[in-house]
Amino acid sequence: MLGDQVAIVTGGSRGIGWSAALRLAQAGASVVAWARSADKLAELAAEAKRQEVAGTLETAVIDVTDRAAIDGGIEDVTERLGRIDILVNNAGITRDGLLMSMEDDDFDQVLTANLKSVFWTTRAVSRHMVRARRGRIVNISSVSGLSGNAGQANYAASKAGIVGFSKSVAKELGKRGITCNVVAPGFIETDMTDRLPDQVKDSYKAMIPLRRFGQPEDIAEAIAFLCGPGGAYITGQVLTVDGGLLT
Ligand code: NAD
Repeated sequence: MLGDQVAIVTGGSRGIGWSAALRLAQAGASVVAWARSADKLAELAAEAKRQEVAGTLETAVIDVTDRAAIDGGIEDVTERLGRIDILVNNAGITRDGLLMSMEDDDFDQVLTANLKSVFWTTRAVSRHMVRARRGRIVNISSVSGLSGNAGQANYAASKAGIVGFSKSVAKELGKRGITCNVVAPGFIETDMTDRLPDQVKDSYKAMIPLRRFGQPEDIAEAIAFLCGPGGAYITGQVLTVDGGLLT
């Protein structure tokens, strides 16, 4: 399905990014997964090998808060693999806290890791995609960015920013054959949500019509759909994958 296509997935060392990188490689793409931990990336590459994915999976240690590293990483991919067809902006962090006591650093770090990084990667790949007159960009937001969440003013602001950014990119680059969409996960079982107290998890579960948390694979499927043939005429959209939480 994605044979011959080159994909970059940020934050591929665990959780949703790990699943998305594997899913795209299973679909035949040549995937380059970025993350900060070389050890975790080596585990991901080993897993792809174990699964005998149809495509390929390479890794690179790249921190998405480092613009020079991003630009270098993209140049490296285009020089070695000749193209970039797919960009999945998945890397993200939380620094939760109540507004009144939120430090500037907590706000700045989250905005840089979650939103400015998306601007940097998208700007850099767009130069190649525009020349090729094709491309699929999928940015990972969150239901927090759509509906807000107490204790997550910084995170929700960054994730809402991704929506406005992506819709603008969709309008700007559509005529060049490039789509840009958002996947907004609800509560997905990863390290990010693992640290929440059981009581909080239970109260969330009660609000989810499907009465369960999602798995990283649920999000990976939505990403693969938007990157595949089914996503050809979809752009500027937010696909919420949350078990019905926001319904
Ligand atoms: P996670 O914490 O398990 O994984 C996040 C990934 O991003 C990790 O691989 C981490 O190393 C990477 N990352 C963080 N900062 C980075 C940086 N500066 N440079 C490079 N990589 C960096 O979280 P997850 O649940 O897999 O989250 C993935 C994405 O999905 C995030 O953008 C998150 O905000 C979003 N999301 C998650 C949930 C959820 O319930 N888990 C819900 C909504 C949205």
